[in-house]
Amino acid sequence: MKPVKVEKISTKELLIVWDTGHESRYAFEDLRDSCPCASCSGESVLLHRYEPPPFDRSAKGRYELVGAAPVGSYALQLRWADGHDAGIYTWEKLWNACPCGEHKKNGAMMAPDRK
Ligand SMILES: [Zn+2]
Repeated sequence: MKPVKVEKISTKELLIVWDTGHESRYAFEDLRDSCPCASCSGESVLLHRYEPPPFDRSAKGRYELVGAAPVGSYALQLRWADGHDAGIYTWEKLWNACPCGEHKKNGAMMAPDRK
């Protein structure tokens, strides 16, 4: 599963077209709130669980996407207007987070668009 196209289609949405032809549209808000980096989502270090502070949703630029760059051949790094760019979104994570709702329902990671 790989994207063939990643594009900002508005001031609020990111479009990913997958090699299967499936198209996913992600709201910036959802992407940012599910940022996988350690300072946003927490992490466990030697059994100590770090819980991040709650989001400040009113922070300026928080939901403004300014850049998206591929990381190797497995992920996408998103850069936000508030300077945050630590989030690495793997293709797998993005695929599973597709808002169309079809993927999870079928439980079909590797078989998108199967009707
Ligand atoms: Zn983050």
